[in-house]
Formats: sequence, C-alpha cells, structure tokens
Amino acid sequence: MIVMKFGGSSVANAERIRHVAGIIQAYKDKLPVVVLSAMGDTTDHLLDAADMAVKGTVDIKKVEELHLATAKELDIEVPAIKELLEELKFLLTGISMLHELTKRTRDYLVSFGERMSVRMMAAYLSKQGTPAQFYDAWDIGMVSDSNYMSAELLDDVWTTIPQHLNGYKNGSDKKIPIVTGFIAKDKNGIITTLGRGGSDLSATMIGAAMQADEIQTWKDVDGILTTDPRVVSEAHPVPEVTYEEAQELAMFGAQVLHPRSMIPCRKTGTPVRVKNSYNIDSPGSIIVEKHSGERPLVTAITSVKNVALIDIQSSRMLGAAGFLAHVFNQFLKWNISVDVIATSEVSISLTVNGKVDLTGLIEDVKNVADITVKTNKAIVTIICDASRSSGILAKAFAALEKEGINVQMISQGASKVNISVIVDTAQVEKTVQVLHKALF
Ligand code: ASP
Ligand code: MG
Repeated sequence: MIVMKFGGSSVANAERIRHVAGIIQAYKDKLPVVVLSAMGDTTDHLLDAADMAVKGTVDIKKVEELHLATAKELDIEVPAIKELLEELKFLLTGISMLHELTKRTRDYLVSFGERMSVRMMAAYLSKQGTPAQFYDAWDIGMVSDSNYMSAELLDDVWTTIPQHLNGYKNGSDKKIPIVTGFIAKDKNGIITTLGRGGSDLSATMIGAAMQADEIQTWKDVDGILTTDPRVVSEAHPVPEVTYEEAQELAMFGAQVLHPRSMIPCRKTGTPVRVKNSYNIDSPGSIIVEKHSGERPLVTAITSVKNVALIDIQSSRMLGAAGFLAHVFNQFLKWNISVDVIATSEVSISLTVNGKVDLTGLIEDVKNVADITVKTNKAIVTIICDASRSSGILAKAFAALEKEGINVQMISQGASKVNISVIVDTAQVEKTVQVLHKALF
C-alpha cells in the first residue's frame, strides 16, 4: 500500500484532474490511498467569502463556478457537490445574518473545499473505469483535538485509521479511497482543520498508521530543490533528505511540506517521496531517517522574508540568574513565537514573524532592559551538516563579504542541521544566490 497526496494546484482544473487521475491509475497495483487538497485556491476563496459574509454579503460565485464548470468539462454528474454548495450557501447566509465568525465556524466553512475535491476525483475515476470511493477524513477515523484552525490529531488515529482502511489493504474492499486532506473532527463530532497546508499531515498520518510502503506527495517540480528555482535558476533536486532536515526546511520557508507532517512518519520510519507530477518517471526526493551514504555538507538553502529582529540588552544581565527566563516569560505572556535566537552575556537577539503586534511585549520588556526592534529583515537558512560548520561558515562569509552583504545576526540550530543568518529583506534574494553559488 502507498499514500499519494496531491495539493491544490495539482487538482486546480479539469485538465489537472485528468492528469492526476492518470497518475493514480498508473499506481493502481500498489494499492494507493489518495489524499487531496481543495481545488486550486478554493481554500483562499472560501476564507474571502467568509470575510464578506461577516460584512453582510453572500457570494460564492468563484467556488461554485470552478466546481460546476470542472464537473461539466469532465462530463460527470456530481449531485454530492451540488448539495455541498447549497449547504455552503446556507452557512454563509447564517454568517451574514449574525455578522460573526468563530474559529469553529471558519473550520466548518473551509472544509467544503476538500470535501468537494474528493467527490470530484472519485466520480471521475469511477467514470474512467477505476472504481474509487470518496471519504471525508472523519469517515476513516481522522479525529483531532478542538483547537480550531490548527488542530492536533489524537493518538486514537493510530487505531481508528487502520480499522477503516484495513479492508482495502487486505483486498476485500476494492475501491481506491480518495480522502480529504486538511480536515478532521473532534470527539464531539465538530469539524476541525489541521492548519494551512495540513493535507501533508493527513497523508503522512494515514501512511504511518497504515504502515504504508511509501507516502508520496506530488508537486509540480522535481522533488525538493536546493533552493527556490525562481531565485536561483541553477537550483537542482536533492535526492535524499532526512526527516529532521525536511522539518527544518518547512519551518524556514521552503514550501515543500507542512512543518508538522514529519511527526507521524518519523515514528514509524515510513519514507516520504516528493514527486513531480509533470515528470512521473523521475525518482524525486526521498525523506528518510538517516542519509544512506555520507551526509552531504549542504543540503538546501531557504529563506523567510518579513521578520522582525529584536535586540534586548541589559547591563543587569551580567551574571544575573533568571534574566532570560524573565524575558521569555514576556514572550509567553503575549503568545509570541520566537524563530531564531543568539545570546551573549548582556544581550539577546531574536527574530519573530514581522506581522506580529509587539506593542505590549515592548512595554513589558522595557521595565527591565533596553529593547529595539528592526523590521523588514529576512532569515536565510542553510540546511547542512552543522557539525562541520567552520568550513561552511568560512565559505559562506567569504562570499557574502565579497558581495558586500552585511549579516546582522547568526545562529546555529541545536538540531545540528541548520545555520541561519539574518539580513535585510531587500538583500534576501542576493544572499541566497551568493550562498548557493558558494556552497553548491
Ligand atoms: N487546502 C488547504 C490549504 O490550502 C490545505 C492544503 O492544501 O494542504 O491550506
Ligand atoms: Mg491548498
């Protein structure tokens, strides 16, 4: 058995759905369980529709047209999708009357995207002579906590998913399961979502729970690349990445996989393969526990723009116990997540998402230390064998110096797979280009 996950752009229209259906059919003998995202930008469109409904306007034209036109082009009857569209209109009307939208309702609302796409694919495959059955995630045992918009799957799924899919695995059930990514239900039967991009986690969870031979996530590029090909045209595929490296890649800006998606497959050692739907025969990149050969010096370079760099300085910090604890408690109080940190005896430099409101935090920290915030910074992360950092840093800094790029902070992650440098957002592309050239 394998799991095949296709993201929104892979099922964005009739042509892409036909193409993906062909790929699924080609893997039929491997007993695929298919996990799908919502078609194209449907999730964004649903969120836009929600915002408009709060202001009093009900409009799902974009979503409705895309799904109905696609069904028509694929020449399939999809009463199940029409029913969902009706339900969706009801829901938006309700929101427009209440002028209110809770996180819980938002999750219910975005769930329609995935629920429509699986119905579309199952209908099309069946029409093509490949019997398929759509499932809403909860129908195969996907149960989560009630942390709406960013729910965590419960440990129960390790047993509930096999209960539902073992029949398919042992051959008694012949229809290919087409399962919604991204969504689940909590113990009270309320719909939840796993956070944006959460279909990856749905796929790895199913793969791990079913002890699949492999989890495939299909993209439009040749697997994981050394960096963003839009920034560096020489970017090339990386054949092998560890779970740990993949997680760091996801956290630091590479749009490969949902950061939490490595958690289930790491537990079972189930390999994840990132494949290119436009180049089926290419092996793509495989994500595994350990490098099969010698660990490469540098695996990839990623970047995150628009972060804020916070410097906190205090002479009281000299030799004082508990100062760091005090400072970080303020971050806890204001629920602000820190990404990269470097400290010295009297100062702390750290980065946070540039969109976060820092007013309250600044007021509180000011009582004990000087705090300055610089915005429009970027984190450039080198995913590498950081136990050999001297060599990497020597090359990297020589190249940056030559190009006149000033690094404002540097941090080496304790996981020993990344080194991050902070530069101005305006210089981020240049930094990535220079580092890619120097390190690959
Ligand atoms: N459709 C959801 C999103 O756009 C989930 C996913 O694509 O993984 O975030
Ligand atoms: Mg999507």
